[in-house]
Amino acid sequence: MSFQKNEWAELLIEDCGIDGEGIGKTDGFTLFVKDAVIGDYIRARIIKVKKNYGYGRLEEVLTASPYRVEPECPIARPCGGCQLQALRYDRQLVFKEEKVRNNLKKLGGFEDPPMEPIIGAEHTFRYRNKAQYPVGKNREGRIIAGFYAGRTHAIIETEDCILGMPENKEILRIILSHMEKHRIEPYDEETGKGLVRHILIRVGHATGQIMVCLVVNGEELPGQKELCKALCTIPGMTSISLNVNRQRNNVILGETVILLYGKPAIEDRIGDLSYRISARAFYQVNAYQTVKLYNKVLEYAALTGEETVWDLYCGIGTISLFLARRARKVYGVEVIPEAIENARENAALNQISNAEFITGKAEDILPEKVRRNEAAADVIVVDPPRKGCERALLDAILQIAPRRIIYVSCESATLARDLKILCEKDYHLEKVCPTDQFPQTIHVETVVCLSNKNAKSKDYVEIGVDAEDYYRIKDSGKDGK
Ligand code: SAH
Repeated sequence: MSFQKNEWAELLIEDCGIDGEGIGKTDGFTLFVKDAVIGDYIRARIIKVKKNYGYGRLEEVLTASPYRVEPECPIARPCGGCQLQALRYDRQLVFKEEKVRNNLKKLGGFEDPPMEPIIGAEHTFRYRNKAQYPVGKNREGRIIAGFYAGRTHAIIETEDCILGMPENKEILRIILSHMEKHRIEPYDEETGKGLVRHILIRVGHATGQIMVCLVVNGEELPGQKELCKALCTIPGMTSISLNVNRQRNNVILGETVILLYGKPAIEDRIGDLSYRISARAFYQVNAYQTVKLYNKVLEYAALTGEETVWDLYCGIGTISLFLARRARKVYGVEVIPEAIENARENAALNQISNAEFITGKAEDILPEKVRRNEAAADVIVVDPPRKGCERALLDAILQIAPRRIIYVSCESATLARDLKILCEKDYHLEKVCPTDQFPQTIHVETVVCLSNKNAKSKDYVEIGVDAEDYYRIKDSGKDGK
């Protein structure tokens, strides 16, 4: 049976799609329904019909799923940033684990991926150390900050996002009232006019240091000294800056940062290492989970202290420095120059002298090093953005043939694509561990360990040996081999 647009359907949601949407069938017709939770019996209005499937809008939950919970945030549904807030947290973890498994199976061709249980979070709200609010006007012409609704660029006004830090609310209030007072116009994407585009806030969880960066379509802000004074009433305020972005595109940050107050970077700690983070540098958004993620990388890298390690897409050198203390030498590669500056400062800050950082694209630097025969590596770590690794980079890695590759990924579809390429050649998929860096959302981070099938020497630590145990055994000279 087929359906017409605007018809009603009642159905049981039996599955969950990759964007967290509910999937069910009615008379053999498959419907995708956003905001419906697996196990719900719902009434939906059909909004789009294809040949043998369609899209529905959730109108009423007739019988709620046992996995359904009341979203903590009043605008969870229109905002769209938290696609899974109505799903109980343990089921969110099941969803993410399945998403990784399915991508590895269907896109990577791995029949039975060697998955470890997902590493869940204790802090499922208020975990984000960074917030990026677009600024605009509402229908009445009042200046607002918020989030883009779903996949659109309509701003949903948000006074407080419960994934972020409580301080954000007061910071937004101060900035918006300053804009009202000085008649500062928000930027309008349609016309390219107006000044303030985004408000970026970052907090160092461990240090309490706060950074505020206003992204502006200009080079100064009326009354900027007065604004700094007002923002400095918030405890922990460490850095206030403008980021200049005059481009008419939807990239958030421009290249130039103008410091208005304090230091150009804030500091945070992960484990027992300190890190300096500037406005344009990437930094993991969930400090609580980052330490678990990096410990997994360390476990999979199974270093003995003798290795040469490359950390590609190294950001401010976080993973590089985590590994450097257990390796002979670490090289980090990253495209954002300020991040590389931070990485070098961070090595010094932590008295680490065996890490070297190179500015450039991983897919340019590594092949070039291979051509010059300067790229020996025992372990290579990659942590690319969502689009994954370029083919030229994967080819260079295959030529270097490290004993291990550790792939850290925030998009399991491109992860699966890249693993397929590596495993069709000389690598074996050893272990896969999803970690939940982003509770309430559909996003999932994954750490993967690949081993070289041709590795001659097997005298390195087997994965799964507790790293601390290993060093105890090794240091006491009884390595048991
Ligand atoms: N490993 C780091 C950063 C991971 S995010 C951490 O855990 O903090 C990915 C990083 O890759 C970002 O810092 C981004 O600026 C950088 N990047 C993006 N494209 C790149 C490329 N082609 N070559 C090198 N670095 C790149």
